[in-house]
Amino acid sequence: MSLGHRNGLLRIDRRWFLCALALVAAAGITGIGWSQQNRSLLNEPSQMEVIPIRGNIYMLAGAGSNITISAGMDGVLLVDTGAAEVGNKTLAEIERLSRELSTFGQPVKRNEGGGGSGSVLTSYLPPKPIRYIINTSSLPEHTGGNVTLAEAGKTFTGGNVAGDLGDIGEGAAVLSHENALQRLSAAKIPIRGQPTETYFGGQMKLSHHFNGEGVQLFHVPNAITDGDSFVMFRSSDVISAGDIFSFTSYPPIDLAKGGSIQGVLAGLNRMVDLVIPEFRSEGGTFVIPGHGRICDTADLAYYRDMVTIVRDRVQDLIKKGMTLEQVKAAKPTEDWDGRFGQLRAATPDMFVEAIYKGLSAKK
Ligand SMILES: [Zn+2]
Repeated sequence: MSLGHRNGLLRIDRRWFLCALALVAAAGITGIGWSQQNRSLLNEPSQMEVIPIRGNIYMLAGAGSNITISAGMDGVLLVDTGAAEVGNKTLAEIERLSRELSTFGQPVKRNEGGGGSGSVLTSYLPPKPIRYIINTSSLPEHTGGNVTLAEAGKTFTGGNVAGDLGDIGEGAAVLSHENALQRLSAAKIPIRGQPTETYFGGQMKLSHHFNGEGVQLFHVPNAITDGDSFVMFRSSDVISAGDIFSFTSYPPIDLAKGGSIQGVLAGLNRMVDLVIPEFRSEGGTFVIPGHGRICDTADLAYYRDMVTIVRDRVQDLIKKGMTLEQVKAAKPTEDWDGRFGQLRAATPDMFVEAIYKGLSAKK
């Protein structure tokens, strides 16, 4: 089922536009330091880029990690906040987007009353503050901008974030899985940058529509870390994946923070189950990866298959009784090293080691 495209011809042109912009963004992002220890942004692109995805959803590239933006009548919701070093620049880009929407009048559809097609009206957006921030993990390149952006925001009262907002003043609500809060708290990041609302189970929903659609968080246990979420924008049909799906590298599995190959594959398979292609695996649901260009269902399936094949190869080598060093020497990732093996924080050896240790530990 296709969800409301306003203009088919415009959309074809925009796909080319998205591809071109995304390639530029991906080229710039490759090589960003993104481990907990390495907060430097050695190859940070000189320019940030806001890329329209669909409906109210935009992707901000070049902030250290991809940031998903929902900007519309209800305000701004962000998935991830990029690196601390570029927090002010990130805020300036988001404010610029908000001003442009206001100044040039981005038309939006909104169902009034009964919700039939005859009740759609076009209106124009006033400037709105940042209401919500969702963190897909506790990793610094995804949460570093929390303090700056949360302080700039303003939270709704009501809905499911009405609980404990008394002490956070005017800032945006910050949502994450409970484990991500624990790790951010342990890392002693400023209180204003820590999640204000967390969830424990498999999922969390914003209790009301935001910018005309449902927003749903899914927890994937023990994937890159033990506190990973991905986010689905249900009417726009966009998934914001976080580093479970990072299209510039192998999965940067952090065993010390509770990550595992089994969890990463479970997360990728969960997303594959949710996405729906438009035609022959292309188009349809868009997936914003933790890093890299905007992706569709074919990209996600390709990446899932890659991770599955490498996992299977390492499993076979373990069954043959090989040591970790022997498995590394057998180069089970070789087919994809040119494409995904270039990042210092997720080298082929690091990926293989995480798989090896994860599968060995399971026994
Ligand atoms: Zn990342």
